[in-house]
Amino acid sequence: MPPLYDAHQHFHFDPLTPHRAAILKDLQAIGLQRAVVNATNESEWPVVAALAREYTWVVPSHGIHPWDAGDRTEGWLERLRAVLVADPTAGIGEIGLDRWIVDGVRPDDPRIAGIRVAPLAEQIEVFQGQLGLAAELNRAASIHCVQAFGALLEVLQASPRSPRGFLLHGYGGPAEMIKTFADLGAYFSFNIQLEGARFAERRENFRNLPLDRLLVETDAPTKPPTPDCNRFPLPPGADGAEINHPANIAVTYESLAKLRGLSVETLAAQVEKNFQRLFL
Ligand SMILES: [Zn+2]
Repeated sequence: MPPLYDAHQHFHFDPLTPHRAAILKDLQAIGLQRAVVNATNESEWPVVAALAREYTWVVPSHGIHPWDAGDRTEGWLERLRAVLVADPTAGIGEIGLDRWIVDGVRPDDPRIAGIRVAPLAEQIEVFQGQLGLAAELNRAASIHCVQAFGALLEVLQASPRSPRGFLLHGYGGPAEMIKTFADLGAYFSFNIQLEGARFAERRENFRNLPLDRLLVETDAPTKPPTPDCNRFPLPPGADGAEINHPANIAVTYESLAKLRGLSVETLAAQVEKNFQRLFL
């Protein structure tokens, strides 16, 4: 395989921990060069920082995810600044806006058990603070956005932005906003979900994106491929959920290259340049 880069994943998440030794071997075998490992709340910052010290392929990224925004603690932004200053190679993420968690999620969804969901206005405040840090320290911001693209655009237009740009990970926004986001400095990453029947619009967006803004991600351990193209099956997690092995980045490149009508080598060469420009 050509050199591969994963623009968004969570190697430190619990479901992957019991399989870590095997995963490390598999990542080496497929030719993974670098992967952005995203913390999603304060307790994960030291964990991701330690992984980055241990493994040279890890690009650490620290932030507070919109799902975790409601449980941030006093002084969080200053602590985040200190974590970033301590590691000039670290990015900011996963940060963003999520309206689904506010008014779309079912109250018995286990993913919101025990968390205080922040309303959108509060998410915006937390997001803006982190975007400000990204601009001030010239770090790449990795952004999650679900059902809040209008609000996202307003915030991005009104905020200082990092000169190196930002990532809209797993882009699920409308086609007509792509150019506006790109003009503000956006890169767009896509994962294997693009193969799914309900993602026709996303596939079309992916086909039309400027090549110099394209990135590939797994979002592992979430978003597993369908069993027929999952080359690295792992036993289900404690909650019975399927787990996406980070080495599925290889099959993701193959799938996305086919969708763009490119060879894997051509796509990989372009993604390598894009990844280095944004993150390294
Ligand atoms: Zn993620």
